[in-house]
Amino acid sequence: MKKLSPPDFARLREKTRLVLAGRDPADSYGFVNPAIVRGSTVIYPNMEDFLARKSRYTYGTQGNPTIDALIAALNTMEGGAGVVVCPSGLLACTLPMLAVLSAGDHLLVTDSVYRPTRNFCDRMLPRLGIEVSYYDPAVGGDIAKLFKPNTKAVWTEAPGSQTFEMQDIPAIVDAAHARDVLVLMDNTWATPLFFDSHKFGVDISVQAGTKYYAGHSDVLIGTVSARTPEQYKLVRDCWETLGVIIAPEDAFLTLRGIRTMHIRLKEQMPAGLDMAQWLSERPEVARVLHPALPSDPGHALWKRDFTGASSLFAIELKPVAMKAVGAMLDGLTLFGMGASWGGYESLALPFDCKPYRTATTPNFAGPTVRLHIGLEDIEDLKADLDAGFARLRAAS
Ligand SMILES: *Cc1c(COP(=O)(O)O)cnc(C)c1O
Repeated sequence: MKKLSPPDFARLREKTRLVLAGRDPADSYGFVNPAIVRGSTVIYPNMEDFLARKSRYTYGTQGNPTIDALIAALNTMEGGAGVVVCPSGLLACTLPMLAVLSAGDHLLVTDSVYRPTRNFCDRMLPRLGIEVSYYDPAVGGDIAKLFKPNTKAVWTEAPGSQTFEMQDIPAIVDAAHARDVLVLMDNTWATPLFFDSHKFGVDISVQAGTKYYAGHSDVLIGTVSARTPEQYKLVRDCWETLGVIIAPEDAFLTLRGIRTMHIRLKEQMPAGLDMAQWLSERPEVARVLHPALPSDPGHALWKRDFTGASSLFAIELKPVAMKAVGAMLDGLTLFGMGASWGGYESLALPFDCKPYRTATTPNFAGPTVRLHIGLEDIEDLKADLDAGFARLRAAS
């Protein structure tokens, strides 16, 4: 097998690059996959090289061949200037805030933000002298009206956690960049395969790699990609200074997940849409929150900017007692109840976003349930939910 030059590699299509990225059998004794390299200490051949730190790797916290293999694949997908990896998706959200914000700065955060990210904004940033305010995810270009002289960055997430509001990312980017304000985005739902965030001007793009990258509910990992070399330097310096490092086994498993991510998402997207459509016709369901459904208020934005949809969405049930929702969910045999998503298995959980929203008041009259559609047969999943709806009706 002949080795490709970097320009030849760059000319390949994305699917092909994802199969090749980050592996060179010559570096792993001929085996297809990179080796899992564990290590803190790197030995130098002599004093001169040690003093100049002249070696490809210098110390375990500064990088490692298994982690670099993952980063090569991530760079291929994200298309930015550089990526750092973190031991959780949550840290991938909080680290770029620490990287770009300083005391006296103001951060605008979408009201639909992933809740643990919100906790960080509420509990940690004020202690560092950073002011945070929340905005309506539907704000679009009117975000400009919320800028203060000290606004440094806007945090976006589209569609939003739990409630799936789309955001007009290009309009927010235009308004922000006109004022030298950075745009940060949690792009976990679409992944770079379905939303090319850097191409749309997002400066720092975050993934909970725990979800579709790893894809098997067996790894916690986060990734941060920066659009420009200057932004990458800020993120990388923060990463190095804090001492953030992931286990090489986790890098290996995530890389393994990425190799098949295309085909998993290709299967899960239509399954999610089929289920969303089926649910929208159920008499027990008031509304389905899924931007790829034509009836969704975010559909036009989704269609304009995204090239696909993942299989996570929510439903609002018609008003019914929580004990009836419990009867429905507790008896499911294929949908597990648990946080996280993006694995091969289906999940269902109740949520209530009303208590913590501050900039908007979600108008749900009935209980809300989030669903993740896995790789099971869709007819089996529908039968499981159908039986669940029968229990819901019997208990209400
Ligand atoms: C799960 C999730 C995270 C956090 O990822 P963890 O690896 O679980 O910390 C961040 N953002 C979104 C949108 C998520 O769904």
